[in-house]
Amino acid sequence: MPGKHYLFTPGPTPLPPEVREVLARPAIHPRGPDFLPPYERVLGRLKEVFRTEHDVLLFSSSGTGAFESAVANLTEPGEHALVVSSGHFGERWAAMATRYGADVDHLRYAWGETPDPDEVRARAAGAAVVYVVHSETSTGVVSDVQALGAADKDAGALVVVDAISSVGAVPCETDAWGLDVVVCGSQKALMTPPGLGFASVSPAALAKARETTTPRFYFDWERTHQAQAKLDAPFTLAVPLVLGLDVALGLLLREGLDAAFERHVRLGRATRGGIKAMGLELASPDEDRSAVVTAVHAPDELDVSAFLLDLHERLGVQLIGGQGEWSGKVFRIGHLGWFDILDITTALTAVEDGLAAAGVEIERGVAIPAALGAYDVARV
Ligand SMILES: *Cc1c(COP(=O)(O)O)cnc(C)c1O
Repeated sequence: MPGKHYLFTPGPTPLPPEVREVLARPAIHPRGPDFLPPYERVLGRLKEVFRTEHDVLLFSSSGTGAFESAVANLTEPGEHALVVSSGHFGERWAAMATRYGADVDHLRYAWGETPDPDEVRARAAGAAVVYVVHSETSTGVVSDVQALGAADKDAGALVVVDAISSVGAVPCETDAWGLDVVVCGSQKALMTPPGLGFASVSPAALAKARETTTPRFYFDWERTHQAQAKLDAPFTLAVPLVLGLDVALGLLLREGLDAAFERHVRLGRATRGGIKAMGLELASPDEDRSAVVTAVHAPDELDVSAFLLDLHERLGVQLIGGQGEWSGKVFRIGHLGWFDILDITTALTAVEDGLAAAGVEIERGVAIPAALGAYDVARV
């Protein structure tokens, strides 16, 4: 049907109607009385969602920009940093920290592996900063960031977490877990279009940033921190996105963070249950923590790009393939943000139909009952 579109990518994610509505409103000025109340609310709601007492700095950038702010503010060239990677995004941060002149030790796991806190503890000794990924969106792995953070603290390092696809989907306790910097973006579980990046900053991280000599201007934490303290911003904010985020965070907090986390766990179970019932093999871990995105091994005979294009053109369904070394080998179903069980059954129906159209032999007619059972629909 023309115009109907189903987005199952792990960012950008679908927008609730309440969010879409405010995005269409007339322009307002970012320093005027129309904007300041929602701006103040957003800064407060971000702290609630990040579970922190400290400030969450807001940048008009994608998530990578907010992450770059951490690297630019915390890197003293030549100082030792540990980057833990097990997929596309961890590797990006290793390249970025290297580019900024850090003496990078790259603890590199194979794609799809889950980092081991004991190994991280052993490698973190002597590092000023440790960079870890919470939800590795390229593989579906959600690491035990509580244990990784504790390991880094034992080593006396500042810990920076890429939580871009995890905040709002799976628990990320910034203060309780001692995470100095937690980075997120608007277009994943926070149900807002792309274009806003966030970095929560602990007092220790801000103190370190005051000492480092790496040049930065737009992403200078101190400048943004001081402006936000006066309910101002150093540069023009993406006003419509902030208004949309205000509404989206309100929806998330009204549902309750714990309820949202449980919903994501059940959506993950439903997706994996349906995929396995078809006879397909998971590339992401078959565990409850893997509640953000499900990666599926593409059957050998499948041309992944042609399959994805067929789903998009014929059914209006958009899934996504693999990144980097998993390109052509997996396809991924995102279930973070504004998703319910009927979205999952739609995605599974499309996968089943697309694979059958591509001539792949799968079990038909069993994925949806399996997904509904795994979700435990009676409990809705
Ligand atoms: C999406 C994503 C990023 C990149 O964020 P952009 O907003 O595209 O810059 C980084 N890390 C993870 C884990 C992500 O899911």
